[in-house]
Amino acid sequence: MQSLETGGLFYIEYNRKRCIGCGLCASIAPERWIMNEKDGKAILLQARGKGHMFRSQAPELQIPREARECPASAITARRQSR
Ligand code: SF4
Repeated sequence: MQSLETGGLFYIEYNRKRCIGCGLCASIAPERWIMNEKDGKAILLQARGKGHMFRSQAPELQIPREARECPASAITARRQSR
């Protein structure tokens, strides 16, 4: 995985309580996000979580776009130091 070798690895944190169900994250990064048909909110795939907070990793060279563009500020990302 080239992006891992170059240090491009981010933690993504998702506050599900804030999600307004716009679907933007799932259209930007379908490899990480799907929409829950029952409550209309996003699901962060392969995440660990407790309550409404979930965390996953994203092998990206830049801050994952959904963290910058989520209109509800439900997604944050920070670079993982290796
Ligand atoms: S972009 Fe944000 S508000 Fe929209 S579905 Fe994803 S987490 Fe929810």
